[in-house]
Amino acid sequence: GSTITTGLNFGLYDGPHRSEHAAALVYFENRWQHGMRAEKGRLRQALPLVVVTENLLDPENFVTLDEDDNAFVSFKAPSDYAVKGMARALEKLPDLLAPLPVERLFDRGIRPTESHVQGTLRMGTGPADSVIDSGMIHHQLRNLVVVGTSTYPSCSCANPSLTAAALSLRAAGRIA
Ligand SMILES: Cc1cc2nc3c(=O)[nH]c(=O)nc-3n(C[C@H](O)[C@H](O)[C@H](O)COP(=O)(O)OP(=O)(O)OC[C@H]3O[C@@H](n4cnc5c(N)ncnc54)[C@H](O)[C@@H]3O)c2cc1C
Repeated sequence: GSTITTGLNFGLYDGPHRSEHAAALVYFENRWQHGMRAEKGRLRQALPLVVVTENLLDPENFVTLDEDDNAFVSFKAPSDYAVKGMARALEKLPDLLAPLPVERLFDRGIRPTESHVQGTLRMGTGPADSVIDSGMIHHQLRNLVVVGTSTYPSCSCANPSLTAAALSLRAAGRIA
């Protein structure tokens, strides 16, 4: 009865590991694409989980427009940083799930992207490597405010919408 993405677990999220590999978000995936269990009485005794890791910016990942302004996303592959984060998360998963009566873990492989296109107008301290400042205002065009997930400096593993809303309201509040 919940949304498709719920039960977000931040147990593998922040920490010193982030200097070497990505933060990981573990959540319950309410799509049941694998179906139910076949054993009698155990139909629903499965816990489909997704592990999402953050991705770093890469010049080979970009968005282009054609002559009719249709947007096309070019995505090379997850960074080593993200892939290492996934490996670490799988290693740590048994500890994270230790309070539950887990019989077996099945790894169903890597989904290449979470479909979150971010970082094309990123926030930063100066125009050399970013577009807007921490108040969401363009570094040079000081009457231009940019809101949305394009402003994120990296692709966090957290779902982005609420942060975008919060940053937008904050920017509007500052202008008001
Ligand atoms: C499949 C999928 C699943 C997702 N699931 C989740 C989720 O569960 N939770 C979550 O938090 N996030 C989720 N997201 C991410 C979330 O939807 C996006 O991060 C969010 O919508 C981005 O908001 P935005 O305002 O930055 O951009 P958008 O919502 O893309 O808004 C940009 C707007 O600008 C318009 N536009 C573009 N060019 C022009 C132009 N030239 N002139 C005028 N208008 C223009 C576009 O039509 C669009 O309406 C998901 C994304 C995808 C693709």
